Amino acid sequence: MEKSEYPTMKIDAINIYPFNIETQEVFKIATMSLSGAKNVLVEIKTNQGLTGWGEASPFRAIVGETQGINLAAAIELREALIGKNPLEVMARTEEMEAWLPYNTTIRSAFDMALYDIASQAAGLPLYAYLGGTRRPVETDLTIGIGTAEEAAEKTKKILKKGFRMIKTKVGISVDDDLKRLRAIREAAGPGIKIRIDANQGWDRVTAVRCLDSYKELDIEFCEQPVKARDFEGLKYVSDHSTIPIMADESVFSPWDALEIVRTQAAPLINIKLSKSGGISAGLKIAHIAQAGFITCMTGCMSESGLGNTAFTHFAMANSVVKYFDLDANEGHINEPITGGAVFENGHVIVPDIPGIGACPEPDFIKALQKEKR
Ligand code: MG
Repeated sequence: MEKSEYPTMKIDAINIYPFNIETQEVFKIATMSLSGAKNVLVEIKTNQGLTGWGEASPFRAIVGETQGINLAAAIELREALIGKNPLEVMARTEEMEAWLPYNTTIRSAFDMALYDIASQAAGLPLYAYLGGTRRPVETDLTIGIGTAEEAAEKTKKILKKGFRMIKTKVGISVDDDLKRLRAIREAAGPGIKIRIDANQGWDRVTAVRCLDSYKELDIEFCEQPVKARDFEGLKYVSDHSTIPIMADESVFSPWDALEIVRTQAAPLINIKLSKSGGISAGLKIAHIAQAGFITCMTGCMSESGLGNTAFTHFAMANSVVKYFDLDANEGHINEPITGGAVFENGHVIVPDIPGIGACPEPDFIKALQKEKR
């Protein structure tokens, strides 16, 4: 057998760039408000000419990371990777986890760039590299917390764009939430899926009471009704509600997923790579969920088309992922990303080229050189 090329591949350089994206509106959820996205790009270069790109979009109230924290942590992680083989993705991600166990969002950007390189080296689109098939990914569009009138307007706009699934945030005011949900259902009519997300905003009693009051509204499922660490509360709500419950903030790691399976606290799990530390840990969560007969969704934060495309590849590669909340960059203004997934009639469609198939525009990176770390 001829000597393989891959053992000689090495990480030559890693560049880290902060970048901000304007959004059409302020996005409000139970735990925080977000105006624009303050993200971080990671560029990993190899000695064989391949370049991988990854992205972190930190939601401080959920993961405890910010752009500043991500930049500082990225410089630390770079040290852990320089000179090593990028194709040994699992080994690299385990080293990063040992280096910085809690900084999952920035680790997910490095993990994404490593998978970009590995799938390019294999000559396969990322979903195929992960063993997946090209299958339809129909996403919802998310409406943040606002007035009932605003929500009804947004619902009409969303349907006009061809989406047939709406996700809306709840969890601050019981009365306003009910009014907003009624307005959305009335504007959407029957047949449109409506899913809700309380982002830890309720206690278990309020959760059951609220979900009971939504009975006539045909809600598909409810994400994270109670605090992240309140697994007993999550189980209480699951046991007392006819609306299925999805664990989101309760599941960061594979161990959290195992705990959901063990305690039967929820029938659904939302996998987000920014919570798990990337694709490598996301795969472990998907496998645990599948073995425990739990169905998954893949969600996002406020990534650009780069991150959203990577997540879509991940979702396509895991048949246990049956729900998709992959609207990260819908509503972003002037994104500096070339290639990547497109939205078509509510579906997210990734390109069939090797790797993630999306990267920042070269001129944009040139302009960022001064801010490079
Ligand atoms: Mg959620």
